[in-house]
Amino acid sequence: MAVRVRFAPSPTGRLHVGNIYIALHNWLYARKAGGEFLLRLDDTDRERSTEDFANGIKADLEWLGLKWDLFDRQSRRLSIYDEAAERLREGRRLYPCYESAEELGLKRKVQLGQGKPPIYDRAALKLSDADRAKLEAEGRRPHWRFKLEPRNIAWNDLIRGPQQVDEASQSDPVLIREDGSYLYTLCSVVDDIEFGITQVIRGADHGFSNTATQIQIFEALGAAAPTFAHLPLLVDAAGEGLSKRLGSLSVGQMREDGLEPMAISAYLAKIGTGDPIAPARALADLLPDHDLSRFGKSSPRFDPGELKHLNAKLLHHLPFEEARSHLTALGLGDIDPAVWDVARANVEKVEDVAVWQSVVKGPVKPAIADAAFAAKAAELLPPEPWNAETWSAWTNAVKTATGRKGKELFMPLRQALTASDHGPELKLLLPLIGRERALKRLKGETA
Ligand code: GLU
Repeated sequence: MAVRVRFAPSPTGRLHVGNIYIALHNWLYARKAGGEFLLRLDDTDRERSTEDFANGIKADLEWLGLKWDLFDRQSRRLSIYDEAAERLREGRRLYPCYESAEELGLKRKVQLGQGKPPIYDRAALKLSDADRAKLEAEGRRPHWRFKLEPRNIAWNDLIRGPQQVDEASQSDPVLIREDGSYLYTLCSVVDDIEFGITQVIRGADHGFSNTATQIQIFEALGAAAPTFAHLPLLVDAAGEGLSKRLGSLSVGQMREDGLEPMAISAYLAKIGTGDPIAPARALADLLPDHDLSRFGKSSPRFDPGELKHLNAKLLHHLPFEEARSHLTALGLGDIDPAVWDVARANVEKVEDVAVWQSVVKGPVKPAIADAAFAAKAAELLPPEPWNAETWSAWTNAVKTATGRKGKELFMPLRQALTASDHGPELKLLLPLIGRERALKRLKGETA
């Protein structure tokens, strides 16, 4: 069967690192298998879902290069859920309940007080037609529960191996709220059937009772359940779960922070597996090693420092042609390719290159501690043309003339030429600065 997977965020916020980790593994799984990737917006929560968030999710995925082959949203599919609910009612798997939240809370309290697990007691199944008519006449509206079969549900999780849940220990889940709106639990199954989803790859937060319940719903709707893969949830350096609301870990924020999409993807593709974290230039480069069975059971640590480091490593080898569009998007379309080549080893973010472009092109106010030394060095500047050998020829001459060596020799020259204590290799930078500007800076002039 052709592989088809889906990423199903709710448009109730922007994507954060935990979501794109799921999206990325779905995308990689689909591409490696030659299958398809569906983007499905789980937007049945009309109050919290917004069009802005929906557009933001698409923009974030596009920025990461995670293109989808198919798109749909649950709010467009309500009549399909109506049909499915009707079939469940006909099969006596969906039943109306009238308890209020307070009544249910009280029942739970009593059960707990008696040392019993707080499982819904199915009192609603005992209501007669007359009881129901009376409740409705009082103005009560039903919510609808799915009747679980009290048996063991087992599945072989692609990541976690054999799993099982004793459904006798679970409450019948609510699939339709009092106001008639559907819960994700049902809609997701109906969609997965209709789209022919072959593998459900999602977070471990759905990996226990939710999966067992959904397997029963698949069966009740006459469909075979797909294969499941539950990715361990990311934790921070302290081992705590990443809060979904953590703004600093939103894709938008990471983008603003100057992280390259490929640094994010290369990082998220590897954490949680035993594989080393290494820069990758294209998503396709991540395909050969992608294998869900490489994940361990423990939670992958998301370390923003490690990601930043990987980002810098990626930039250090990034050809200008590949940096160009990002530079242009940042308003840095005038960066000289030669400056990029010299400075890329010294940038943490793409935009840092602008500093080195201004060092090359000026104006720079030189930092000169010893004017006599700088003037001597100025005198010894060789004539142009300059190349990568000029720096050592010049500094050898300065060394001979002044007796200085090592840091004593190089640091004042760097400070005079760049007004900084560190930066790209001067043998590469010097030819770009050129004789005219170098001469002025050594004489203390802003140039
Ligand atoms: N909308 C659900 C979520 O974001 C999707 C879960 C699933 O993949 O089944 O958690």
